[in-house]
Amino acid sequence: MTTLVEGADLVTRVAARGRPGADAVVGPHGRLTYGELRLRSAALATRLAGGTSPVLVYGHKEPAAVVAFLAALRSRRAYVPADPSSPPARIERMIDATAAGDAVLVREAPPALSVALSERGIAPIRLDPLAEALPIGDAPRIARPSDAMSPAYVVFTSGTTGDPKGVPVPIGALDHFTAWLTHAVGLADDEIVLDQAPFSFDLSVMGLYAALLTGGALFSVTAEETGDPRVLFARLDGAPITTWVSTPSFARFCASEPRFRRAMLPRLRRFLFCGEALAPRLARELLSRFPEVEMWNTYGPTETTVAVTGMRIEASRAAGERPLPIGRPFPGIDVWIADGADPATEVPAGHDGEIVIAGPQLALGYLGTPARGGFVTLPGGRRAYRTGDVGHVDPTDGLLYCGGRLDRQVKLHGYRIELEEVEVQLRRVPGVDDAAVLAVERDGRPDHLAAFVTGGAPLPPSDLALTRAARALLAEHLAAYALPRSVRRLPSLPLTTNGKVDRSALRALL
Ligand code: AMP
Repeated sequence: MTTLVEGADLVTRVAARGRPGADAVVGPHGRLTYGELRLRSAALATRLAGGTSPVLVYGHKEPAAVVAFLAALRSRRAYVPADPSSPPARIERMIDATAAGDAVLVREAPPALSVALSERGIAPIRLDPLAEALPIGDAPRIARPSDAMSPAYVVFTSGTTGDPKGVPVPIGALDHFTAWLTHAVGLADDEIVLDQAPFSFDLSVMGLYAALLTGGALFSVTAEETGDPRVLFARLDGAPITTWVSTPSFARFCASEPRFRRAMLPRLRRFLFCGEALAPRLARELLSRFPEVEMWNTYGPTETTVAVTGMRIEASRAAGERPLPIGRPFPGIDVWIADGADPATEVPAGHDGEIVIAGPQLALGYLGTPARGGFVTLPGGRRAYRTGDVGHVDPTDGLLYCGGRLDRQVKLHGYRIELEEVEVQLRRVPGVDDAAVLAVERDGRPDHLAAFVTGGAPLPPSDLALTRAARALLAEHLAAYALPRSVRRLPSLPLTTNGKVDRSALRALL
């Protein structure tokens, strides 16, 4: 094996693990061994080594995406995953926000994205799904030293201004998170890890490194497969998955299939959940279908590198309807419940407040506006991240709980959406004067978005036609999961006595 960078950093650790002939990625596009992953990422790194700017990686679960991520890390450049579920206009904003100087396409780009790249003078590097055609070059000597504060990747989240927010996560933060993942969770060698979340969602980071740092394999399932339950369960039936990484929503979807139980995944050792609340009912159901399988509830925002708290959930804890705890902070991370007005002031145990996080997993701030949003500097100069999540500490056992938001961010089937982002985009639809968007719940969980607008011509007269037209326009800027299911026109938006949009009155109209 060729060592590209000196020092025991993440890439070196990944490169040191898997046996050359062992699978690193297995998916519907084919399989990639560690030997191939090393050679092909080294070859691509020779192409990328000339630059320093971030590298856009466009695709969805192709093994070549993993080649591109490692190549970027090897050449000391951050990777920026862009999933086809994001429209080209959104990806264009990501390119501009990151000032990406290279783009690796592991699937065919839509024409609008190709145009956007060429307008910026970026000649895309095209790879087939397995990166097979890559010429093997000499390993470059990278002069730049390993720097814990240089970004490993940039993930974009929904932004209230209508633009997605880029979160650069430094190598040191990723190192800290993956150390917890591999040690505290007790991963074995050769974990086969379910890889279902798009690489543009930071939950996928948990699966990616759980596989690569144990010398195991990513078991990739695509959105196309998930969209066809027959295909999905045929893929999962008898799959050698040992660690399941997903949102609870995806596991709930799988649990709608009665065959989703021990016999389907005979080697499964643990569920690792993150990204949204884990309901006791789902935990109970899964633990009864998969006896002896461990279940972990982990919590954290993208801005603090995937997860910062976690614990194992035993069947006894999931017995009632009481919300499940999110555990304790990982070693080295500080998590406290702050007074809403002052992030430095902790509220007494048992009291609700805002969850605030400090420590080595903090991202570098938002791209372009590092001090915006939840990133704050506390008295004494320490950085912290205000999550906007409401939480409390149980005074009896010190466990953390998370429930509710201080703002209008929602989690829809695991995807993070700022309702303001959808409203900003709706106000750009020709004819729309104002817009309000609600998350509609089903079985106590957000299920879809409903929008209300005011305005006139050229808006179509019927709500059905309006919904169709507005969704088509919004789809140019928003990810598919953020499109409202319905758009209804009102003569005016109802207001509360203090002049704000009356969301409960809107809800009553549904
Ligand atoms: P994301 O940045 O997409 O990972 O979303 C982070 C947000 O998801 C957090 O701020 C929480 O609101 C929510 N979240 C993540 N994990 C959990 C969990 N285990 N329980 C409850 N909410 C969660």
